[in-house]
Amino acid sequence: MSHRVTLIPGDGIGPELTEATRRVLEATGVEFEWDVRPAGAAAMETHGGNPLPDATLDAIRANGVALKGPITTPVGGGFRSVNVGLRKALDMYAQVRPCKTYPGVRSRFEDVDLVIIRENTEDLYAGIEYEQGTPDAEELISWIESKGGELRWRDAGISIKPISVTGTRRIFEFAFDYARRMGRRKVTAVHKANIMKFTDGLWLHVAREVAEQNSDIEFDDRIVDNMCMQLVQRPEEYEVLVLPNLYGDVLSDLCAGMIGGLGMAPGANFGDGAAVFEPTHGSAPKYAGQNKTNPMAQLLSGMLMLRHLGEDAAADNLEAAIADVIREGKSVTYDMKPTRDDPTAVGTSEVADAIIEKLGVRV
Ligand code: NAD
Repeated sequence: MSHRVTLIPGDGIGPELTEATRRVLEATGVEFEWDVRPAGAAAMETHGGNPLPDATLDAIRANGVALKGPITTPVGGGFRSVNVGLRKALDMYAQVRPCKTYPGVRSRFEDVDLVIIRENTEDLYAGIEYEQGTPDAEELISWIESKGGELRWRDAGISIKPISVTGTRRIFEFAFDYARRMGRRKVTAVHKANIMKFTDGLWLHVAREVAEQNSDIEFDDRIVDNMCMQLVQRPEEYEVLVLPNLYGDVLSDLCAGMIGGLGMAPGANFGDGAAVFEPTHGSAPKYAGQNKTNPMAQLLSGMLMLRHLGEDAAADNLEAAIADVIREGKSVTYDMKPTRDDPTAVGTSEVADAIIEKLGVRV
């Protein structure tokens, strides 16, 4: 059976990374029908300045699955981030970032194999903010004071942190389903419920309710500061961490650092009708078109997509081929070599060639 997948090459290094990934995915023997769609700069040129055309969104909705390269968000000028726009339009509430160390990667850590699941629609990132000194901020502060609330100083800007029962329930239901599908045994809820009782407290309460309905999977919880310490002391004790938006943002970068950095960190965003697979890193514009950057994060995102499509044997083969190339340390890009100016570093497409060769041995 052929899988119809929307392919969004993206900006900067995106096109070369997605091309390398497309070649490698085809070499696994799985058949794809690529539905190539623009977003970002390429879309602006062809769609009257619109970086996120409706036709691209409709294609993802219709196919249900997309492989996406990174997209540039130009600084300033009220330009809406395509990445945020995409997540909102498709209500992709779950961001999944598996963090795994492969032997041969330059990292201070070994034996990390955990998954960060970040709630992606609520919390302090909901965009409900009141600028210091505006009439709205003044009104809000007066209202808070009228309810007995006290601000240390009145000249404050205010960001609101909504965490709902509905949003929390759906992310934990997703997390337990994901854990079960991926053969994971434990889910950990991360929070600061001891301080923020009505938001993180609610998060923990709902997490426990959902855990009771999923008693085949072990459940525990950690306060976020303690979680950070535990992650650097004994990361091997954790499997699936579920975090509200802000903590999820911070800890997913912490964990990316633990497994070798941005070049190694894959990701996926899930909504009820769509799944978009993309690396954690951005479009690194200064390296665009140079066949220089590391395709591993994009390739590993493709491997996650294979699992999502039910192609587990191909995913296992691909992961083993990637692991072989990393362990050998020969056909890897500059960022995976002992020094950044190592003359033996290869380019993006040569990494893909080496992995395809390994797949050839395996398939
Ligand atoms: P970035 O991740 O693009 O690059 C930062 C640095 O990390 C690069 O200069 C490079 O040294 C290194 N790097 C990143 N990817 C690499 C790879 N595959 N191989 C080797 N080295 C790599 O972050 P940035 O410079 O902050 O952002 C650039 C643009 O990307 C911005 O417009 C930003 O908005 C966008 N962005 C997009 C996404 C996305 O599409 N999901 C995510 C993050 C940032």
